[in-house]
Amino acid sequence: MEVVQVARIMTEKSTIRARFAPSPTGYLHVGGARSALFNWLFCRKHGGTFVLRIEDTDIQRNIAGADQKLRDDLQWLGIDLDESPDKSGEYGPYRQSERLHLYKAAQEKLLASGNAYYAFDTPEELDALRKQAEAEKRGFKYPRPTKFPTTEEAERAKAEGRPVVVRFKTPDEPITVHDELLGDVTLETGQLDDFVIAKSNGWPTYHLAVVVDDAQMQITHVLRAQEHLMNTPKHVFLQRALGYETPKYVHLPLVFNIDGTKMSKRDKHKTVRKVVKERLKANTWSKDAVSQVAACSEEALKKWLDKSDTELDMDQVERIAMAVGVEIPEIDVHDFRSSGYLSEALVNFIALIGWSPGDDREQMTIDEMVAAFSIDRINKTSGRFDREKLLAMNTDWCAAASPQRLLEAFKDWAQVSGSPMATLDDTVTTRVLDACKGFRTFRDVEGKAGILFAPDERVEYDPKAVKKVLEKKDGQGYVMLERLLPALESVDAWTAEGLDAMIKNFCEENDAKLGDVAQPIRVAVAGRPVSPAIGETLALLGVEKTVNRIRRCLSKRK
Ligand code: GLU
Repeated sequence: MEVVQVARIMTEKSTIRARFAPSPTGYLHVGGARSALFNWLFCRKHGGTFVLRIEDTDIQRNIAGADQKLRDDLQWLGIDLDESPDKSGEYGPYRQSERLHLYKAAQEKLLASGNAYYAFDTPEELDALRKQAEAEKRGFKYPRPTKFPTTEEAERAKAEGRPVVVRFKTPDEPITVHDELLGDVTLETGQLDDFVIAKSNGWPTYHLAVVVDDAQMQITHVLRAQEHLMNTPKHVFLQRALGYETPKYVHLPLVFNIDGTKMSKRDKHKTVRKVVKERLKANTWSKDAVSQVAACSEEALKKWLDKSDTELDMDQVERIAMAVGVEIPEIDVHDFRSSGYLSEALVNFIALIGWSPGDDREQMTIDEMVAAFSIDRINKTSGRFDREKLLAMNTDWCAAASPQRLLEAFKDWAQVSGSPMATLDDTVTTRVLDACKGFRTFRDVEGKAGILFAPDERVEYDPKAVKKVLEKKDGQGYVMLERLLPALESVDAWTAEGLDAMIKNFCEENDAKLGDVAQPIRVAVAGRPVSPAIGETLALLGVEKTVNRIRRCLSKRK
């Protein structure tokens, strides 16, 4: 424990600077969260500085508000930031859209030194070149002109309406980049073409912006997903041409679904689409009804059913999912937050996809992970997102959490997910959490106890439970309820203990087993034979609602 504290309170700053550089295209994906976490763990372990940079140069893909959502998600996970758009350090601004002058300067420098050149091919011309390469069975490479266009020529082309971009003159030499984890990766001469560094709208591409920013922000270590491995040679060539130092690179293993497919937003569409198709095929749902639920045109629905995800937005997909009662798989950090996971469980789980502390510890606090973190214990191969394991881990974390922590986290969940339980006071919430002990997620708590706080008319009786618990043996359950009513009405102490004692007594007097009494009560007050311990269930419900619900149930007897 001592070691752990030392790691967290280490005040001496090292020169290590790492960053997380997401594009604001939505909520934080678990893969992104893992990159952020590893950079953060690395910084905290070594007293480094953790920077958040928003990479918003792809104007078409930016989503309004995403920038804030990303920061909220990081905060929820417990990943704090040393420098960010909200907390400016010496190297700001921290949004690329506010740093365009820096990219422009780098671009000018590359043009002036002959390391970059203007190009103004139309999309049709580029397409023709690509087709020609295809026909000749060779990979497409942009044909570098023997003489680079002058600035005047570029301006003239622009005036003629041509798209003017700037391309990097990739050196004609092999390149070896060193990855701290994977070792050396070499590309032979000619494997990279003259890639674009500035787009026709004047904005830099990712490659130029990332290289300029990592240098200007004095980033010493870049931990990013392996999907960027093949970008790194481009970045190193650019660094050399601009006279920058090369940071140390670590390419992190990818995170896949348990079946080996990519974990992406598409999974959400896929899951819901499958069920809708089944329902349509079985004629238990009509296209009209689906369009109505999603508030979309028939045409849009048709295209969406044909696998065009973009036809419906996530709100619409969620509405359909709700109507068919299908659970959408969690993909983003926010999904797990609204499904009722504890952030410490998610962080723990995410860290272990692709890293291990080197012993058999599994349940670890974020501080323990800081103390144990080292780059050489990151896996080289991709990891699987095992949802069952996460659920088990969350169950353990919930069981181990203090009542105070559970209360705080539950309230956050109730508010984020719009649960009616958000209005309960702290004392009641703490009792509910205690009564549901052993739960896997906060959603389970709602599933088990939420009905106790809903209006009485909301109780729906599960026909199977009615049959098994109430109607069986000539309506023995109903008989129990009838007999119980006067006893319940005369209970002095409406507390869990008082009620348990009364029910025990009642069982003895009626020569009944506890289940023969408790289960009919549960079905009467909750609609199903599932609720916390019977005394606490009724104590939470209160005398008036208990009696009301039992009467209501008896009135429905056939
Ligand atoms: N904006 C890039 C992304 O979201 C950052 C990649 C990098 O870390 O260099 O994938």
